[in-house]
Amino acid sequence: MDTQHEHLYTLIEDYLRSGYRRRTTPTGAPSSEEPADTGTGHVDDRIVTGEERERRLSELVAAIRSCNMCPLSAVRNRAVPGVGVLDPLVMVIGEGPGADEDRTGQPFVGRAGQFLDKWLEAIDLSREKNAYITNIVKCRPPQNRDPLPDEREACIPYLERQIALVRPRAILTVGRISGRVVCGVDTSMGELRKQTYQYRGVPVVATYHPSAVLRNETLKRPVWEDLKRLRDICDRS
Ligand code: SF4
Repeated sequence: MDTQHEHLYTLIEDYLRSGYRRRTTPTGAPSSEEPADTGTGHVDDRIVTGEERERRLSELVAAIRSCNMCPLSAVRNRAVPGVGVLDPLVMVIGEGPGADEDRTGQPFVGRAGQFLDKWLEAIDLSREKNAYITNIVKCRPPQNRDPLPDEREACIPYLERQIALVRPRAILTVGRISGRVVCGVDTSMGELRKQTYQYRGVPVVATYHPSAVLRNETLKRPVWEDLKRLRDICDRS
């Protein structure tokens, strides 16, 4: 095993030891084999201090920045781990970085990212104050194509670890790929957004990607309905 793989496996072992053991079935429902949690999805991980979580998150960010676990590492300029605060109301999950993100190393910074910031602002969220923003894959797929199954599979342990450490109160997926991966349902975007899912005990709302809404203004209304539902979930939890 090379150093890169060893490091990732160490992180995953650490993740498992930290007690974030709740698993989901392919439909996103909690597995009956798992211990009951408190409703937050975080079991023994509750005992880890905020300072310790910050430290572990920094380690994870460093691992992502130097990762070469899938072929996207060969074509990226910069990996894009994510940005935001610990214990956010919402973690936003897109599918992968675009050209602006690949250049800057920051998620959602192009035109679509500015649009996303306006969505968040409309429900009193921001990446500086109470949100965390990341993607399913942390490196840009060439020509912005959909990430391939192998690439998603290689990268998903990073996202799982981020969720365990960041501890969002709710998740917002933007776009078909992230919706399908996180909700565990292989269906259209229109179908995905009809219900609220659970990912390891965390409620998930799926909506359209900001790029899609920039191309098709008729999607603004359904997105607004999804954002209001998300805000309601945050306020009730
Ligand atoms: S996409 Fe994920 S798994 Fe692939 S090289 Fe980047 S960080 Fe590693």
